[in-house]
Amino acid sequence: MKKHPPTSFHPVSAPDFLPLAQLKSLQLQRLQGMVQRAFDNVPLFQQRMRERGLTPADVRRMDDITQLPFTVKTDLRDTYPFGLFASPMKDIVRLHASTGTTGKPIVVAYTKADIAVWENVIMRSFAACGLHAGDIIQNAYGYGLFTGGLGAHYGGEALGATVIPISGGNTQRQLMVMKDFGSTAICCTPSYFLHIIEQAPELGVNLKELPLRAGVFGAEPWTETMRQRIEAESGLKAYDIYGLSEIIGPGVAMECQCQAGPHIFEDWFYPEIIDLKTGRPLPDGEEGELVLTTLGKEAMPMIRYRTRDITTLTSEPCECGRTLRRIKRIGRRSDDMFIIRGVNVYPSQIETALLKVEGTLPHYQIILTREKGLDEVEVLVEVTREVFGDTVGALEQLERRLSQSIETLTGLRVNLRLVQPQTIQRSEGKAKRVLDQRKM
Ligand SMILES: [Zn+2]
Repeated sequence: MKKHPPTSFHPVSAPDFLPLAQLKSLQLQRLQGMVQRAFDNVPLFQQRMRERGLTPADVRRMDDITQLPFTVKTDLRDTYPFGLFASPMKDIVRLHASTGTTGKPIVVAYTKADIAVWENVIMRSFAACGLHAGDIIQNAYGYGLFTGGLGAHYGGEALGATVIPISGGNTQRQLMVMKDFGSTAICCTPSYFLHIIEQAPELGVNLKELPLRAGVFGAEPWTETMRQRIEAESGLKAYDIYGLSEIIGPGVAMECQCQAGPHIFEDWFYPEIIDLKTGRPLPDGEEGELVLTTLGKEAMPMIRYRTRDITTLTSEPCECGRTLRRIKRIGRRSDDMFIIRGVNVYPSQIETALLKVEGTLPHYQIILTREKGLDEVEVLVEVTREVFGDTVGALEQLERRLSQSIETLTGLRVNLRLVQPQTIQRSEGKAKRVLDQRKM
C-alpha cells in the first residue's frame, strides 16, 4: 500500500475528527431541527408527513429517519421555482439553478447561514487534500447559475488560498495562467482536465514541470482507471470531490490524501444507502443508491433526497483518522444506465474496459441506435497517434481486444470503431458519453 505524508492539520478540519458519540448526538439534534423547519414551512413535506401519520416529534433517534418520506428530483421540478423554500425571500441571499436538459431547471436557495456552511465544507475539502494558505487555486468550474464555480470560490478564499476565478473553457488561457501564475491546484471536471492534458504539449507546456500538485475533480462520475491515467500524464494528485446542487453544491464529500473515497461531511449531510428497487435502507458496505439529508440547510431543507448516484458507504477507519464515513467514488448514476437488449450497462463499465487496454485514449462515445427493432451499440474510441499509424492488421487486432474487454465486463457485444485523436467532441464541463439515437 502507498504511504502518504501525514496531513498537516488545519483547525477548520476539527469536525472531521469528532468522536462518534459526539457526531451522532450533533446529527440527531440537527435532524430534529431540520424536520421541524421543513414541516412548518414546506407544504409538500408537511402533507407527506401527515399522510404517514407522522409529526416532527416522531423523530426521537437517528434511525427514525428511515420512516420519513423521500424527496426526488421531480419534486423540485413540480414545485418550480420556489415551492420547496423554507425561508422567506428576504432571508435568501443567493439562488442557483441547474441547466436542465429538458424543460425548466431546478432552483436552489441559500440563506447567509447556508452560504457559511458551504464555505465551511469547501474549506474542509481543500484542507483534506492538503491545500492551505499560500496555495494558488485555479478554479475552472463554471461560474454562474451552476454551483461549481462560486461554491469552490469562497471556501478557497476563506482558507487563505489565492483563488483564480478563471471559470471553464478557453484551454489556451487556462494553460497560460497555470504556467505564468504558478497555480498549485486546479478545480474542474475530470474530462475537462483530460482535455487540458491533451492540449498542453501543443501549446508548449509540460504539466509535470509546473508547480501544479493537486486536482480537485468532480461534477461527473469517473473511474479509478481514469484517475491513474490523469496522474501518470500530469504528475498531479487527482482527488474526488462530490456534491450536488440539490444538497448544497460541491463539498458534500471530499477525498483526503489517502485517496480512498470521499469522506462525507456527516455533521451537515446525513447519508443513507437504499435498495434501488424497494427503497429499503441497506447496511454499510452494500451497494445501492445514495440518499442524503441536509442537517443544517435553512433556505431549502432536503430530507432523504434520492441522488440517483450508486455507491457504497463504508465505516471502516481511514488512515487519515477522520471519523467521517466514506463513499466509494461515484462511478455511475442510475440515470446514466442504459438498457440494451435486456442488459443493464453503465458508461463507466465501458470506460474501465477500454482503459485497461494500452494505446487507447480516455475519450470515447457510446452511440445507441435501433435498426428494424434491434438495438445496436457502437463505441467510438480514440487511439494515440502512434497506434493510429499502425498497419490495418494491428488496428483490427486492437479493435478485437477492446470489444472482447467490453464483452467480458458487460456481457455485451458492441461494434467498436477506432478513431483518430481529437475526433470526439470535447466538453468544457460535463462530458456527454452516451448518444441515444433510438426512437422511443
Ligand atoms: Zn481519510
